[in-house]
Amino acid sequence: MRARRLLMALAAGAAIACGGAHAAVVDLLDLMDNLVRQGDETPQEAIDSINELSSTNNPDSPLLRRAMIASIGIVEARNGLNVEALQQVADLTELGKSDPLAGADAHLVRAEIEINGGHGEASYQQARAALATFDALCAPTAKRPGDCDYREWWRALDIAQRGAADQGNSVVAAAYAQTMVDVARRAGDRPREAISLGIGALQAEANADSVAANRLIAQAQHIARFDGSPWVLVRVAVLDGLLHFKRQQPETVQRDYEAALLMANAAGLKRPAMLLRANLSDAYIHEGRPGAALAAIDLALPVAKQHRDFRTERLLLHNATLAKLALGRVAEAKAEMVHVLQLWEKDTGPGQRQEALREFGDALAKAGDTAGAIDLFHKEDTLSQEIRAANKAAAEAELRARYDQESQKRRIELLGRDNQLKSAQLANQSLARRLWMFAGAALVLLAVLAVMMYRRMRELNRTLVKHEALLRAHSERDALTGLANRRQFREVMRVRGGERAFKGALLMVDVDHFKRVNDHYGHAAGDRVLVEVARRLGAAMRGDDLVARWGGEEFLVFAPNVEGAELDQLAERVRVAMNQAPVVLDNGTAIETTVSIGYAAFPLPASHVPVTWEQAVNLADLSLYTAKNQGRNCAVGIVRTTAVTSEALREVEADIAQARQDGRVTLRVSPEAATDRVATPASASPSAPATAA
Ligand code: GH3
Ligand code: MG
Ligand code: MG
Repeated sequence: MRARRLLMALAAGAAIACGGAHAAVVDLLDLMDNLVRQGDETPQEAIDSINELSSTNNPDSPLLRRAMIASIGIVEARNGLNVEALQQVADLTELGKSDPLAGADAHLVRAEIEINGGHGEASYQQARAALATFDALCAPTAKRPGDCDYREWWRALDIAQRGAADQGNSVVAAAYAQTMVDVARRAGDRPREAISLGIGALQAEANADSVAANRLIAQAQHIARFDGSPWVLVRVAVLDGLLHFKRQQPETVQRDYEAALLMANAAGLKRPAMLLRANLSDAYIHEGRPGAALAAIDLALPVAKQHRDFRTERLLLHNATLAKLALGRVAEAKAEMVHVLQLWEKDTGPGQRQEALREFGDALAKAGDTAGAIDLFHKEDTLSQEIRAANKAAAEAELRARYDQESQKRRIELLGRDNQLKSAQLANQSLARRLWMFAGAALVLLAVLAVMMYRRMRELNRTLVKHEALLRAHSERDALTGLANRRQFREVMRVRGGERAFKGALLMVDVDHFKRVNDHYGHAAGDRVLVEVARRLGAAMRGDDLVARWGGEEFLVFAPNVEGAELDQLAERVRVAMNQAPVVLDNGTAIETTVSIGYAAFPLPASHVPVTWEQAVNLADLSLYTAKNQGRNCAVGIVRTTAVTSEALREVEADIAQARQDGRVTLRVSPEAATDRVATPASASPSAPATAA
């Protein structure tokens, strides 16, 4: 059995300063690091020196205090002084209540105790417990960095990588090795970097990556040569030997180890020499030199016993058994083999046990004990299956963890992106919605405004047209009288909308025998009379009535809101207003003036036949005609008619006198005295013009 795992222990104890610590503290830490390594050779002296350091310096630094207790603990542990080492563990655990790094150191010392005792599983567990704290507080990415001594972290990593390798889990071991390289590099610790690279080379080889293994061991050798410390050179030479051993190049292995042994002896490094002899014994056995192997073992075994190095002792006993088998001392060897297998069984992982079984099986087969060999092969096969299953599970778990992490990261990323996208979409949507709402509201508002404006415009237009018409009607007056003229009256009728069903009262007023006025007094006097008639007419009417000069001496009055008795009274009032006083000219001439009036309110009472305004004017005119026939100076109004159809009304219009006789129309004549004159219209004499006195 080769001494790979034993040689790894040599790695502990490089003397490189911690970059972040105070110079004095750094010096003390370096000193202690050297003393720990010295402790591998002369433990008691090293422990005394460390104690001396702590009493003379009495440092307040928790880092130093922790480092001193841990250093003593490690020296004690590596020399099998377990009771003493456990005392340091207790002290560190106590400190650990307030300083998590001291708690981690307690685990580290425990791990060293377990290693030296050959308890691989237990040491791996303790190392991982220590790493939980170191990884959290000492990594450069640590959220709350602790007051770390990187060497402690590196030692824990070293033990952990050995534990993983012992279990046959080279993937995890390689990861630990890489972290060791990182930690040493960050601290600028070249020796530890070299050793870490060498370990990395072994793990790369175990993972079937020979190219990486070659590169890593070359880097390790380069750094070791540059550093020049014998212990580093020895250590790297051993790692190189192990690499060639893995590659089954026994001659190279042996040459490496022998060269390293020379260096170790020259430097007085007894423990490394012991480990090299253990490894050489391995090489000699494989080379078929069992005698040389036994000789090397005889030299190494006392040193192992002296340091209570049970691990190396077990290895030496294992190799001694193999050598004896090779030498044909089968019975003696088989008796020892039972004991050695028990040692492996007791404290080590399946990887080492499998290796031990294989080597013993091969050796037994070579020695001719086929039955014994087959028995061991069966045991090894079972173990091998267990390892494969465990490795597969571990690799799967690691892959899964990594995959889970990656996929979760990706999922979170995608979710984040998705969220961004969604919120952007939502923002866009709400913006669009707001814009649409705004646009919609604006449109509705515009539409409402447009409708309102359109209505207002139409209304305005209508009003304007109406007003314009009215204005025109009212403004274009008759030049003589100042009243509306015929054309304007027509226009007003049209605007008032009485085209189809005229409503309101009409009074047709005609000056009696006006021709005579002209004839007697001259045309100007006639004009003067007309002006006065117009004035009196206007005065007799209300504001909303329209008085127009219909023709020469004919006037038409439109009274929209008068009917019945009120209309009769109005007509009579107009008549009286004209004849109650003569028109006096400027020259004092007084001219007696009377008028005849025909009137009616529409729709005609009892008829309700709709009439146009022209028809209404015609009916008023017919009444006037009747008034003239009645003897003038009277008002004749249509009281009612039986004509309930347009046709019947037309017949009334065609001959109103006949209709009156037939009772199809009833007329009212005022004053009543004028009624009597109807019978003798022809005798009606014009009122003689009178000249005022
Ligand atoms: P009747 O009682 O039947 O109405 O007889 P009349 O003389 O009043 O009726 P007629 O139609 O025979 O005569 C109307 C006269 O009015 C004829 C015309 O010369 C005159 N006249 C028309 N316009 C004017 C005007 O602007 N100024 C004057 N001075 N005379 C006018
Ligand atoms: Mg007349
Ligand atoms: Mg006339």
